[in-house]
Amino acid sequence: MTARIIDGNKVAQTLRADIKQKVDERLRQKQRAPGLAVLKVGDDPASGIYVRNKRRACTEVGFSSFDHDLPATISEVDLLKKIDDLNNDPAVHGILVQRPLPSHINPAVVIERIRPDKDVDGFHPFNMGRLACRIPRLRPCTPYGVMQLLATTGVDLRGQDAVVIGASNIVGRPMALELLLAGCTTTVCHHFTRDLAAHVQRAQILVVAVGKPGLVKGEWIRPDAIVVDVGINRLPDGKLVGDIEFDVAKERAAWITPVPGGVGPMTVATLLLNTLQAAEGLPAD
Ligand code: NAD
Repeated sequence: MTARIIDGNKVAQTLRADIKQKVDERLRQKQRAPGLAVLKVGDDPASGIYVRNKRRACTEVGFSSFDHDLPATISEVDLLKKIDDLNNDPAVHGILVQRPLPSHINPAVVIERIRPDKDVDGFHPFNMGRLACRIPRLRPCTPYGVMQLLATTGVDLRGQDAVVIGASNIVGRPMALELLLAGCTTTVCHHFTRDLAAHVQRAQILVVAVGKPGLVKGEWIRPDAIVVDVGINRLPDGKLVGDIEFDVAKERAAWITPVPGGVGPMTVATLLLNTLQAAEGLPAD
């Protein structure tokens, strides 16, 4: 059996078109365009590409993009002051600080300074806590994007055995919370997990977010599984690959996301969705 490909580019394009339509409607009603502030600290080349993509995506859907390129030498105090200004700016509905940050800046302090209702990355402990308590507000972009990809398969997630590999604050942990919220029986594997293969072999839903090419062998994949590869790795020859042996896995799985063109485009589209939601006002409880 050859897996059906979950086309992240297509799903993201549909979502972005929908967001653009809603922005056009806001503008027709003389409301402000949603505004996203993207802060880049220093000159990390990969961050440069991510930030450029996010800013371009903003402009394409009609958002106002507020660009702040700050020197690597900026002090934590000055960065926090910048965040305070943006917290108080009514034209800014979402604030994103691109990571990694220079080593003298504590990312946890930075995240907690962003107002939770402008935390469009969904990393603030308030937003993570809301997700853990099953009353999500702004949801971490990559896991939320994965949930939207899973929804396109039409498979009922309730009661499915889900395995997440990777337990970071930005992908693995919130991914597990999303799957739990969707009714999956959810296992989280990480660096200390023994016998990764055994966990993968029983996964009906498998999400891998580690950053190690070829970590998950294709032959471990359970036939009929839905397989989502969040990993992004650049090989020495320049090729971009995920964490799963794609060619073998796709012969066993029912559905699979490619790298590139799977989760990546959804992360950006979900960031736009979160910013639109922040601009429209988050629903009352
Ligand atoms: P991270 O380094 O913060 O976390 C990696 C996790 O993998 C850790 O929890 C660690 O315990 C676990 N791990 C390490 N080795 C392992 C092993 N041998 N077996 C099982 N678990 C192991 O990384 P991250 O920020 O969560 O990102 C993970 C990957 O996802 C990276 O490749 C990153 O580039 C990619 N990513 C992609 C997107 C996207 O939009 N597609 C977004 C964010 C991250």
